[in-house]
Amino acid sequence: MIKMFKIGCHLSASKGFLAMGKAAVSIGANTFQFFTRNPRGGAAKDLDHADIAAFLDFAKENGIDVILAHAPYTLNVCSADAGIREFARNTFIDDIKRMEAVPGNLYNFHPGSHVGQGADVGIQMIADTLNHILYPEMTTTVLLETMAGKGSEVGRNFSEIKDIIDKVTLSDKLGVCLDTCHVYDAGYDVVNDLDGVLAEFDRVIGLEKLKAIHINDSKNPFESHKDRHEVIGGGSIGEQAFRRIINHPVLRDLPFYLETPNELDGYAKEIELLKSLRE
Ligand code: FE
Ligand code: FE
Ligand code: ZN
Repeated sequence: MIKMFKIGCHLSASKGFLAMGKAAVSIGANTFQFFTRNPRGGAAKDLDHADIAAFLDFAKENGIDVILAHAPYTLNVCSADAGIREFARNTFIDDIKRMEAVPGNLYNFHPGSHVGQGADVGIQMIADTLNHILYPEMTTTVLLETMAGKGSEVGRNFSEIKDIIDKVTLSDKLGVCLDTCHVYDAGYDVVNDLDGVLAEFDRVIGLEKLKAIHINDSKNPFESHKDRHEVIGGGSIGEQAFRRIINHPVLRDLPFYLETPNELDGYAKEIELLKSLRE
């Protein structure tokens, strides 16, 4: 059986799940990512159960079999400030509870910034939070995103991600979301040595943990630690590298999410481009 190319982009969540599903289908996508709440944090809207029921039907009819929620990027579970950590933890708990209303999907978060406390302290705080939050019956898989390593970001290399996973009791609830812009900025050469990068991922973390790909070009050169996304083919990674990425045997069945600087019509064109590169 030929597996479907799971491709989508980041969408606005303001009009609810059914609206996101319809927007995705309208641009040729069969999955999508969305922020669980304002990306800068703050209260989430009440869950609309009629909207969710309508979305689940729509998803089944239209071949949407996985979606990815993204935590607010200001969420920092390893802040030096106990109040910020507490806020992040409560947000996380609330987000997971909400994701359980659309069971069996993915929830991605940035591991955090240790803000000068050191990566080891950050890693321990992140693991402590996950140990507090994860529970055996949950159906959502929580993804740690690979980071570019700007500032004091934790998750700047595969071994920091692995160290977090190893400290978490219910580590079967965890996975990894690999962001192509971030890893390239971090110094993993997905342009000239994709096989080597994936072999390294397998050696350090294990490829079975890889659950999703953020597919972004980078405005900046290799190893720049900057984290500025660019449209596919418009940056330092380039179209041919993306052809190899979306067709690679260990990646091709994963869901791919564009987080490029685009509106809906631009995403439609990028999805069309990526489909044309699919072998
Ligand atoms: Fe992200
Ligand atoms: Fe990302
Ligand atoms: Zn980024």
